Amino acid sequence: MLSVNAAFHGARNGRKYGRTFAIAVTAADKTKIVKRMSQSKEKMLRLILGDQLNYTHSWFREVRDDVVYVLMEIRSETDYVKHHVQKVLGIFAAMRAFTQMLRENGHTVVYLTLDHPDNLQTIADNCRRFIEQTNANKFEYLLPDECRVDEHLKSFCAYLSIPFQSYDSEHFFTTRTTFSEIFQGTNNYLMERFYRTMRKKHNILMNGKEPVSGQWNHDASNRKKIPKNHVILEPFLFKNDVSEIYEMLIKKEVSTIGTVAPKEFLWPIDRKQSLALLDYFVSECLPNFGTYEDAMTMHSWSLYHSRLSFSMNLKLLSPKEVIDKAVQSWQENQERITFNQIEGFVRQILGWREFMRGIYWKHMPEFGQLNFFNHRTALPRWFWTGETHMNCLKQCISQSLEKAYAHHIQRLMITGNFALLAGIDPDALDEWYLGIYIDAFEWVEITNTRGMSQFADGGIVGSKPYVSSAAYIDKMSDYCSNCRYDKSLKTGDNACPFNSLYWHFYARNTAKLSNNPRIGMMYNVWNKMEATTKDAILQQAEHYLQNLENL
Ligand SMILES: Cc1cc2nc3c(=O)[nH]c(=O)nc-3n(C[C@H](O)[C@H](O)[C@H](O)COP(=O)(O)OP(=O)(O)OC[C@H]3O[C@@H](n4cnc5c(N)ncnc54)[C@H](O)[C@@H]3O)c2cc1C
Ligand code: SF4
Repeated sequence: MLSVNAAFHGARNGRKYGRTFAIAVTAADKTKIVKRMSQSKEKMLRLILGDQLNYTHSWFREVRDDVVYVLMEIRSETDYVKHHVQKVLGIFAAMRAFTQMLRENGHTVVYLTLDHPDNLQTIADNCRRFIEQTNANKFEYLLPDECRVDEHLKSFCAYLSIPFQSYDSEHFFTTRTTFSEIFQGTNNYLMERFYRTMRKKHNILMNGKEPVSGQWNHDASNRKKIPKNHVILEPFLFKNDVSEIYEMLIKKEVSTIGTVAPKEFLWPIDRKQSLALLDYFVSECLPNFGTYEDAMTMHSWSLYHSRLSFSMNLKLLSPKEVIDKAVQSWQENQERITFNQIEGFVRQILGWREFMRGIYWKHMPEFGQLNFFNHRTALPRWFWTGETHMNCLKQCISQSLEKAYAHHIQRLMITGNFALLAGIDPDALDEWYLGIYIDAFEWVEITNTRGMSQFADGGIVGSKPYVSSAAYIDKMSDYCSNCRYDKSLKTGDNACPFNSLYWHFYARNTAKLSNNPRIGMMYNVWNKMEATTKDAILQQAEHYLQNLENL
């Protein structure tokens, strides 16, 4: 164990990762490229977006003289939502490292920094000008993962006078339409069905036609609280120097949220670092991944989670190689890694991640407007500061501001749960989730937020809303024992807000939810309560709803 950690330690502190990035292309370089392009006969401009850093894409298999790749840092991307500063820094640093790698491999690349004098700050404007300057006779791009960018590129291409072509990004297991094919003729999108189809189709954890272990789902063995005296592994962090990019953001007055130590940027910014994080995950975290998947604690911000979503969403790692590596590690270390750990991990990536992508392309853009409960309440200001007396929310929000990260159950059962109980407008919440997390891209953010977490889609993603009172939070965390509120009280000065808001949520949504077979039991409990108890709980909840800013 020690030697493994020592090797990782070397990787994260190595000189290579401590570099400061120089501006990737100077105005003089660009002039040279433009001149060379305008002299050659066949000229093709290929666009690479900031979340398309796929080193293994077939585009890069051969070095072609007739192709110029273009990457750009643009205001339309930094400003469409207020991002966490670490998210902007991480993406720009990864784009610059990617450019450097392509150039080292002989490709011609134009890179526009945010402060480059020639930067027109939108994809279309920059590409249009570049095509004019070089007389490029073809434009190619990789299919984007977000509707917003997809539409932008489609309308740009509609006015192009030269041929254009789009290509698959060669990243996902599924195409945009696989989901519709699997669920042809039904609106009942069971994730379990999707997941089993994917396991069979890609022959992952399969024994012929049957699942290895004979069981598809091992959730029952997972999701335990962290035991007392359990020593949690320290997260494996990088120390990248991104201060040059940070200074540029300040100079250009890019408005961001959260904090950063720009000389010790902790997230992976290239493929090598992403692979090192993957190695660390499979050897050190995977043995406990499933078991503590849903646990929360004040003593660790990432527990045994992989923190690979950023690398995967930028396409620095493919979901297939992540799964293959994890499965291989399980196969070779079955005495340390039990089957429930690997099954839980594969389910997240092969199941949930691809499922969300499918929902996105099937239901957007309408999905982005759905508000099943007609929630209209403004997001409390403390979502932006963490300054609330509710310890669970304070921990999760402060951590998110500091690290640009919260693990799934913190997002779902703390911030998301509270927002749903309090009736927060899903538009405001989407903006928050899309901004604050390093891994937040609309295709996977909005499906999780509006769908899984807020049930604003009325049941497209999930079959029931994810809500809980303090009992669940206390069961899975150590937050409640350090809170000003009393987890066991429903009413009274110190009563935990989750307890009364929980029943208020069910009571105010009786017409919409009471026929749902998965939650009928909760209505039985509610209906059996004394009328005076119910009144007191609802009054307490009303009081909290009127005072959300002060909780
Ligand atoms: C309200 C809300 C908002 C979310 N927003 C995002 C987002 O913007 N971007 C994002 O990548 N994930 C999002 N998720 C899903 C999930 O929380 C993150 O993928 C996960 O926390 C990332 O951390 P990790 O890499 O340590 O994950 P791990 O726990 O190590 O899981 C491994 C991988 O599985 C995938 N995964 C797990 N759960 C999901 C899921 N529900 N949907 C899609 N992929 C999943 C991720 O790629 C993740 O890296 C959101 C979840 C909720 C409830
Ligand atoms: S008592 Fe309530 S508010 Fe406090 S940490 Fe527990 S669930 Fe959160």
